[in-house]
Amino acid sequence: MSRYWSPFVKDLVPYVPGEQPKLSKLTKLNTNENPYGPSPKVLEVIKAEATAALRLYPDPNSDVLKTAIADYHGVAAEQVFVGNGSDEVLAHVFHGLFQHGKPLLFPDITYSFYPVYCGLYKIPYEVIPLDDKFQIKIEEYRGINGGIIFPNPNAPTGCFLSLAEIERLLTVNNETVVVIDEAYVDFGGDSAISLVDRFPNLLVTQTLSKSRSLAGLRVGFAVGHPDLIEALERIKNSFNSYPLDRLAQLGAAASFADEPYFQQTRQAVMAEREAMVTRLASFDFQVLPSSANFVFCRHMSRDASELAAGLREDGVIVRHFKMPRIEQYLRITVGRPEDSEVLFKSLQRLL
Ligand code: PMP
Repeated sequence: MSRYWSPFVKDLVPYVPGEQPKLSKLTKLNTNENPYGPSPKVLEVIKAEATAALRLYPDPNSDVLKTAIADYHGVAAEQVFVGNGSDEVLAHVFHGLFQHGKPLLFPDITYSFYPVYCGLYKIPYEVIPLDDKFQIKIEEYRGINGGIIFPNPNAPTGCFLSLAEIERLLTVNNETVVVIDEAYVDFGGDSAISLVDRFPNLLVTQTLSKSRSLAGLRVGFAVGHPDLIEALERIKNSFNSYPLDRLAQLGAAASFADEPYFQQTRQAVMAEREAMVTRLASFDFQVLPSSANFVFCRHMSRDASELAAGLREDGVIVRHFKMPRIEQYLRITVGRPEDSEVLFKSLQRLL
């Protein structure tokens, strides 16, 4: 720590992302990437654009991409905001859409970037415990608050809350912004985008990192009332007018134009998830119901840190959160069937 740092930076507790190892030999099941890669159409567009136009600044408004997202989801382009990954979209949301002076509400077990952004933007928050089945209890999110945010499906549990429940929440909480972070919704959930026209305080965020296999391109978006989108645009334009480069804008837009590939790969992930759940149960794991591209499970008798370390020795990386209540759980990304073979071979050795 340097004496030149401001006291503000000294106090920051940054987010620690999952490990991104350099060794390609590893079976990487720790950060919920999609094993199938993006649509070939995305790659074609990126190659053409890289050859033709990299010397030029990108469109600061990402209009082509916003229109692609709006058309895909049946909303107007003015209802769409795009950013450099949904993490950046969320950063702008935390910066500008939650009321200060009242606590932001989110679950005790959830995406660990939320408390980090609260620290960065000085937002007070209150965590609401999940119930004993790790479900979000919607009736607990009704008190005075500066906003509400949770992922649906939740992370790292994978549990999904029905749209009827979300509607119930929006009906009683109409004073502050409710953000539904749908990073994993394409693997079995229903999107709350269908509710944005009825609830002007609802903002839904999604990412192209998971179901569209573009984590490396860094594209995320939000859909909501044009007033909410305008606030996000103001923040973006006070921070970085060109958050999405030319390749990201066009590549991401192209992924929405290849529906057969999208459907085929997400179905493959969901089918493999069900196979993994059955097989994990036969290895004496208790597995939470998952609507995401990962499973969250605990072994009935073996310690999670030892299992994670043992898997690692065999070149399999999974995520182990050493947090209260979930320290005995492992979060395992759904890979290809051949990745599961490596995983279960290692579990066979360890158990
Ligand atoms: N929300 C949740 C719940 C996530 O798990 C992630 C991935 N770590 C993100 C948002 C951010 O994803 P990205 O920045 O790649 O869009």
